[in-house]
Amino acid sequence: METILKARDLTKEYITGRHTVKALNGVSLNLERGEFIAIMGPSGSGKSTLQHLLGGLDRPTAGQISLGNQEISRLPDTAATLIRRRNVGFVFQFFNLIPTLTAEENILLPILIDGKKAKAYQERLDRILQRVGLTDRRQHRPDQLSGGEQQRVALARALITESAIILADEPTGNLDTKTGSTIMELLQAAAHEFQQAIVMVTHDPRAASYADRVVFLRDGQVVEESILAQDTGQAQRVKDILSILEKLEVASC
Ligand code: ADP
Ligand code: MG
Repeated sequence: METILKARDLTKEYITGRHTVKALNGVSLNLERGEFIAIMGPSGSGKSTLQHLLGGLDRPTAGQISLGNQEISRLPDTAATLIRRRNVGFVFQFFNLIPTLTAEENILLPILIDGKKAKAYQERLDRILQRVGLTDRRQHRPDQLSGGEQQRVALARALITESAIILADEPTGNLDTKTGSTIMELLQAAAHEFQQAIVMVTHDPRAASYADRVVFLRDGQVVEESILAQDTGQAQRVKDILSILEKLEVASC
């Protein structure tokens, strides 16, 4: 196993007016190459904050984050942006596609933004389009695609760069159950076939059941971690997650 991301003792405080909110309070977490983790916890427990720090979208108030061998939590903005562009992909609840571009133009966007030639990525593009089942939709614009297809475009856009990390924020939040399952299967494949680690925030135990590991937050702290055995059936994994959520809820009363 190769640890690609190490987070040590992360604290994040937000100061609004005279109030300070401690969104994270001493979180440590390692991420292995190609590992799929889900972050769960009640609203306000710090899930989005943790995800943003891990992806370099924001900086911790205290603590360290290293990506590979590089400490990234104190870098100046321009350096942080460059590291993020090269190493982090995003799949959000609202697919965040550019409406005037075709599916394949949307997918190639991070390549072009990074100043690389799209031509060099043609083969990879074809392979990814095939893998996410969009080969015959490649010339369509977002408004000509279903929600599930749009989310597959967003996922393909995160796959094309071969980023070490993909952040997924409620990726199935706007999809029906069946379409959501397809997206989860593809995310799982991204982790295991393409070796891109995934950090997914979700409320949905079904979505979380596709992960290798679930990290549970409460009040800005990791209160439980569960490694999901992939050889048990999905129904059992969902049950296991539900029982942990229930236990944590009871404990917080
Ligand atoms: P979650 O994603 O689990 O709902 P968040 O990470 O969004 O939790 O928020 C954790 C805590 O930090 C909450 O109390 C929230 O109100 C607060 N918070 C998050 N972002 C900000 C911000 N930009 N400014 C002030 N407070 C914030
Ligand atoms: Mg959130």
